[in-house]
Amino acid sequence: MTGSGGGGRAGIGGPADGAADRTTADGAPAGRILDHLRAREAEMADWLARLVAAESPSHVAESQRPVQALVAARLEAVGLRTRVYPGRRTGGFVFARPPGRPAACQLLVGHTDTVWPLGTLDTMPLEVRGPVMAGPGVFDMKAGLAIMVFALEALRALDLAPAVAPVVLINADEEIGSRESGGHIARLARLADRALILEPGAGEAGALKTARKGIGAFQVVAHGRAAHAGLEPERGASAILELAHVIRRLHDLNDPASGVSVNVGVIEGGLRSNVVAPEARAAVDVRVPTMGHARAVEAAILGLAPTVPGVSLTVTGSIGRRPMERTPANRRLWAAAHAAGRALGLDLAETAVGGGSDGNITSQFTATLDGLGAVGDGAHARHEHVRLDRMAERAALLALLLLAPPLGRAGAVEPVGAGAAKEHHGDTARTGRRQR
Ligand SMILES: [Zn+2]
Repeated sequence: MTGSGGGGRAGIGGPADGAADRTTADGAPAGRILDHLRAREAEMADWLARLVAAESPSHVAESQRPVQALVAARLEAVGLRTRVYPGRRTGGFVFARPPGRPAACQLLVGHTDTVWPLGTLDTMPLEVRGPVMAGPGVFDMKAGLAIMVFALEALRALDLAPAVAPVVLINADEEIGSRESGGHIARLARLADRALILEPGAGEAGALKTARKGIGAFQVVAHGRAAHAGLEPERGASAILELAHVIRRLHDLNDPASGVSVNVGVIEGGLRSNVVAPEARAAVDVRVPTMGHARAVEAAILGLAPTVPGVSLTVTGSIGRRPMERTPANRRLWAAAHAAGRALGLDLAETAVGGGSDGNITSQFTATLDGLGAVGDGAHARHEHVRLDRMAERAALLALLLLAPPLGRAGAVEPVGAGAAKEHHGDTARTGRRQR
């Protein structure tokens, strides 16, 4: 899908407003899909309200079940073989795949978990004010789930079969680093022609996210020697003094021009003011735009050497979430999305963001486009909300992307659990904690 909308038929500037005859360059009926979804806007809002009413914080595994059941029932109804896999320490995930063994698949990724604890609705109620719906988790990313489901339903209702079979994975631990689901996502991404991530769009324009920084978490522990600070300080070795030097060196790794950030966010250590500190520790957050920066910063941090005599250092951690870069494959997918947008009368924007998502995982293996979810604002914030009047266009955009021809990599679909998944991402959870 590389051409502009219109496709030589009625195209942009065709029938007023409805533009029902618009098609993409590949002949996908953009106008018909959009009209169909606009007619279902109220239904979409109602279903979204049900998703939001079912609170589902990451840390309460059983709270995921009602949302998973709502989503699974609809995925099943569009003809996907759907199963909810329970997690061991998290809420597990919903996996849906077409029957049979299609030659090529595309991966749709979403999450049911939110950052909001149970009971948040009491003080932050679900509210609809004109074209806006507010409530915990509505933007990040229950509206994304609604967009996914209604896009698939639109294709089914209009009898439009994607050439590349959709496979769905909706996890329940995304907000806590996808610690259990990350390996499954990686394995599916390896098989997929492309991955479409239903995280919220950025800003009022709903810009798509075409780059995300990699994220690392490190822990530095300085081990010194205690001594009485008044009687015999010379027998001590101050872990706090060493840590002070380390912090300066860590902050020197910051490079705003290239987008590298290193933040010592927590320090602790020492016993009392009159004791030379035997131990001190720091927790470090790292963001990097490329794998080159990831390797360089990781090597610099892991290579920290002590400078205070008598003090040793233990440094642990890694870049757990690799960056989602603007790879050639990712650019092709973005171009397809932009063309699909034009067929819908949209001029889509793209943006790079510092926060991570499961797009960071899929992008290591296949063409990835993120931020395909709702238009709104306030992810993880009290003013979280979505624009209901933009839901139909987002679902139509996703439906058109689902109809796009293969980008160029084929793979058969296997059920999750058929083989062991050992990816780098399998252990991102230890260090890949995220705060956006
Ligand atoms: Zn999210």
